[in-house]
Amino acid sequence: MNHPEQVPTLGASVAGLENSWLPFTPNRYFHEHPKLMASAQGAYYTNVQGQKLFDALSGLWCCPLGHAHAGIAAAISRQVLELDYSPAFQISNPLTLNLARRIAGLAPEGLDRVFFTNSGSEAVDTALKIAYGYQRLRGEGSRTRFIGREKGYHGVGFGGMSVGGMPANRKMFGPVMVPGVDHLPHTYNLSEMAFSKGMPKWGAHLADELERIVALHDASTIAAVIVEPIQGSVGVVVPPEGYLQRLREICTKHGILLIFDEVITGFGRMGTPFAAQFFGVTPDILCFAKGVTNGIIPMGGVIVREEIFQAFMGINAPQYAVELCHGFTYSGHPMAAAAGHAALDALEGGAIAAAAALIPVLEETIHNLRGEPGVIDIRNIGLAAAVDLEPIAGKPGARALKTFEAGIEEGVLLRFTADTIAMGPPFISTPDEIRAMGDMLRRAIRSAMAA
Ligand code: PLP
Repeated sequence: MNHPEQVPTLGASVAGLENSWLPFTPNRYFHEHPKLMASAQGAYYTNVQGQKLFDALSGLWCCPLGHAHAGIAAAISRQVLELDYSPAFQISNPLTLNLARRIAGLAPEGLDRVFFTNSGSEAVDTALKIAYGYQRLRGEGSRTRFIGREKGYHGVGFGGMSVGGMPANRKMFGPVMVPGVDHLPHTYNLSEMAFSKGMPKWGAHLADELERIVALHDASTIAAVIVEPIQGSVGVVVPPEGYLQRLREICTKHGILLIFDEVITGFGRMGTPFAAQFFGVTPDILCFAKGVTNGIIPMGGVIVREEIFQAFMGINAPQYAVELCHGFTYSGHPMAAAAGHAALDALEGGAIAAAAALIPVLEETIHNLRGEPGVIDIRNIGLAAAVDLEPIAGKPGARALKTFEAGIEEGVLLRFTADTIAMGPPFISTPDEIRAMGDMLRRAIRSAMAA
């Protein structure tokens, strides 16, 4: 535990603040209360004041192997002198192709083709474009609609924002959304599922809302349904038992593609390579990012069924014609591929199994907070958990902000959305570190309640 009285404050005099605009940050508040990291090792950050902070969300869910990972560091330093960049269009390199092979090998059976992007947002927009193109190519060009879900987060591209269901992210951009998008209802219901461990028993019937939406628009107008298997960014909203299976059945019945956005859940967070395997439900398209490189070099991508790829290969055009006019300068970047191989070595070499072994420890730790004043829900699945705090009347988010700041004083870096604290500790954490995280969170909550 850090001792707050020994921690020097930064004030608002940090050079560069006056030129910076931070993403998803209340900049006015940050300028008065800057929080700056100086270094990171293993499961800990050290901030510029010298405080050591347990990394309770693995960066932004993206550093499951911890920081300064020796294998990844070695791989990228070798790579930068060997092949630092090669164009992504008309040219590739063995490292990137082989990473696609390894990712397809980890993915559920049937998902075999990998298209690389640089981020989760790009992965989602790529998936939507592929879904739309596929429907056209198979003669179903009237299928132009996408169905997302309330409270979903699919990044910040226009496609991802449109299928996303977080009002704060959408409200400023209403008129420029992708047209023809509808949303499933979310499955968050405190009165039916508070303090559930793993999948709630209640709520599978909410998947049947998809039938209602299909009846409203007609299946012939719908290209794809996109969901996060677990809604991560909104605060670990766990799917009810049988819910994802039901979505799969309805999509198959109506010729609608099912897209899983596994940007958070991919690469081991559930104790399995992907959430698709954890839930036993295989989508047609799967989006990934974050953990693929342990967050060290940005990378994302989509994995699709072979028949989707083959539909593009069957276009009525000469062999030298580009089949999908889409891609990024840095798609499949060799540096990211090098990081990806080293990350997969570690994940396959025991880190995913380590995550699986920590799941019961996290569950017990986090549910021990039940009964703390102000805690109105606790939920967990895989190596992910969330605690909902009672909002301060008229000040949504203020309680969680106080808890976040009290957490820093205690020695833990938490993440919050509205009044929900989310945790997804690194797979390299020890059981004792997870328990210590729980203790620090408990003290942070008490201190925020007392404030
Ligand atoms: N999709 C999901 C499920 C995410 O959680 C995120 C980011 O947290 C994204 C997409 C966007 O990824 P990025 O920030 O890399 O664009």
